[in-house]
Amino acid sequence: MGDHSTISRRSLFLAAGIGTLAAPLVLNRAAALAQSESDATDRRVSPLETRSFKLGSFRVLTVRDGMRPSGAPNETFGTNQSAEAVGALLTENFLPADSFVNSFTPTLVDTGSEVVLFDTGMGEGGRADGMGRLVEGLNYAGYTPDQVSVVVITHMHGDHIGGLMEGGKPAFPNARYVTGRTEYDFWVNPERMGTPAEQGHQGVLAKVQPLAEKLTFIEDEGEVVPGIRGLDAFGHSPGHMIFRVESEGKALILTADTANHFVLSLQRPDWEVRFDMDKAQAAATRKKVFDMIATDRLAFIGYHMPFPAAGFVEKAGEGYRFVPVSYQFDV
Ligand SMILES: [Zn+2]
Repeated sequence: MGDHSTISRRSLFLAAGIGTLAAPLVLNRAAALAQSESDATDRRVSPLETRSFKLGSFRVLTVRDGMRPSGAPNETFGTNQSAEAVGALLTENFLPADSFVNSFTPTLVDTGSEVVLFDTGMGEGGRADGMGRLVEGLNYAGYTPDQVSVVVITHMHGDHIGGLMEGGKPAFPNARYVTGRTEYDFWVNPERMGTPAEQGHQGVLAKVQPLAEKLTFIEDEGEVVPGIRGLDAFGHSPGHMIFRVESEGKALILTADTANHFVLSLQRPDWEVRFDMDKAQAAATRKKVFDMIATDRLAFIGYHMPFPAAGFVEKAGEGYRFVPVSYQFDV
């Protein structure tokens, strides 16, 4: 904001002060600005976006940490399908057949007595690509990192734990941490060395293990704080958990990475997904969780759903239709 107004004032000054001679300079400046804006668009450097909702007496805030464009959708979603089948479903849903955008949306729940953050985005490792903007978004919405009292980690893939540490220090200095025991035990185990999980193992050693003293574990149905419970939803990762948030009889589910694309994962829950570590278990979990959400007409927030990452589903065909939130979502 400041930059733009400075530049436009300077351009006006040049135009006014030097007269016609300045015109080419101003045009060049305009061309350079247009170029840098199109570069930013190409890299999908997302504008900072936050949205807050009321849930009973709780306040729920979603913050977009960043976005990442990719080609070849069927190399990630529907890996057991043809590119044509995946492309056709995308086309039917008004989406490009040959590319997709992933987005990353941590959620904060302010219960009035606790400020609970679910997942931490890419952190410093994502900044060069325009991601890692969680703290910036929290600040924008009126929260400082030291106000966060609990950080919940749904599972330990890099896009969820990347923001835990900043410059070698905890990014949320006053927080305690909660995660599933199964998940932590899997990733810290040195047996992951030399397997496809080695990189993830090293990420957990770098980002999670330094916080181990302040880490507590929950199991299925375990309480994080009053009104928030974890539920086993294994498959995407060995100990992946989802969370039920409930206040004054209103409820929503944080589905984390149970479904990672609002069309491909929800309309075809059986299609295999590259990032699902146990593909059959992940598909079974996806159907169980979204059957429950559809049947009970619950709101949900999904980490990779289109911002603000919140909505509903209805059963449709062999899967579910995503119904994004509109202008009025306080529940
Ligand atoms: Zn993820």
